[in-house]
Amino acid sequence: MPDLMDGVANFRRDVFPAKAGLFARLATEHRPTTLFIGCSDARVVPELITQSEPGELFVIRTAGNLVPAHSPTADGTVASIEFAVRVLGVTDVIVCGHSGCGAMTALAEGHDLGDAPQLATWLRHADASVARAATPEGPTDVGALVWANVSAQLRNLATHPSVAQALAERRLTLHGWVFDIASGSVDRLETLDRAGV
Ligand SMILES: [Zn+2]
Repeated sequence: MPDLMDGVANFRRDVFPAKAGLFARLATEHRPTTLFIGCSDARVVPELITQSEPGELFVIRTAGNLVPAHSPTADGTVASIEFAVRVLGVTDVIVCGHSGCGAMTALAEGHDLGDAPQLATWLRHADASVARAATPEGPTDVGALVWANVSAQLRNLATHPSVAQALAERRLTLHGWVFDIASGSVDRLETLDRAGV
């Protein structure tokens, strides 16, 4: 493992002093405006892509940027969504997929996940995504699945009571993004059919 403590030392020495005022304020204040739900992929770094400062993004990262639909059983992802929307009062939620996503590739190409049964179960949250992207002619295109998955996860998001309520009261906007690793660009899902979200 690289010595991450070297990084911490560099941060304290070279970065922190210029942001000391910001961190002093953040020590007692947590008021992010945006919930960013991205993939756990190490190449997709929300704060870097959006050039956000500490305190601005509330981030959830899961394999495949999947959002379980509402169910009475809480898990960490769902609890964090509820906290962001109901307690922190974020005004925007971004679900961000990305090029070269391992989770989407595994689904599109039907990889054997027998050695990773928990992952296989988790990826079932993308069943609707796979169904949307499927073509009768041949194998599922990974790029198409990435987009279909962002759209499907936005719909899952809207099944959560905290999100549904905020949408009904028009104090929350949902956004779908796809980040392209090779070019660094972000494409946005058109306002989607928001009525259906
Ligand atoms: Zn991914």
